[in-house]
Amino acid sequence: MEETRLVLLGPPACGKGTQGRRLAAEYGLGYFSTGKQLRREVEEGTALGKEADQYLSRAEYVPDELVLAIVSDWVSKQKGGWILDGFPRTVKQAEELDAFPAESIGSLRALLIDVDRDVLAQRVSQRCECGYCSWTGTSEEVKETASCPSCGGALIRRRDDEPEAFRKRMDVYEELTLPVMEHYSSSGRLLSVSGIGTPGEVFKRVEDALQSHG
Ligand code: AMP
Repeated sequence: MEETRLVLLGPPACGKGTQGRRLAAEYGLGYFSTGKQLRREVEEGTALGKEADQYLSRAEYVPDELVLAIVSDWVSKQKGGWILDGFPRTVKQAEELDAFPAESIGSLRALLIDVDRDVLAQRVSQRCECGYCSWTGTSEEVKETASCPSCGGALIRRRDDEPEAFRKRMDVYEELTLPVMEHYSSSGRLLSVSGIGTPGEVFKRVEDALQSHG
């Protein structure tokens, strides 16, 4: 598992962040979420953040070149295996990733976490994340403390989880990201698991899928 190079695919709120972080922690892999990094850049008011914010505030994808720049910078610094969460989201991004140096992408695989749209809408209505660390969960899980179970930080609701923005993100996903599945399945690199169930149940499926396809 230490040589794993994995991209996590799936619709918004399918559990990519939860599964990706857990997988990274269990197997000592690097983990990078492009969405999280973009939101961080916006908060910090960097030049990239200012540019990205125009798209994030409209629930649109940021241009391929901007995301590619942050991903290639991060990948080039990794020494071992890694997981990318939320990248690639377009066929162009997938093709560009395939063109990275062979030693940095190794035998890249993609894992789709599959969840129906109506289940996602329900999930997203309860989703909250920590403004400090990378914890993401539901308001149900933190109803006792109302603060981050990992670091105690204040929890926030993502503006792009509001119903209208969520619908738009799903539409963009179906138009631009569904074709990415074909990119990986036609080259025999796509694994798929159901994302329905508890995080622990889904994690078991993820591990089984990765282990049985060595
Ligand atoms: P996420 O946190 O993965 O749901 O991403 C939040 C938002 O960041 C997305 O709705 C996009 O606007 C933007 N974003 C994240 N990753 C990418 C990507 N690979 N390509 C384009 N936009 C992205």
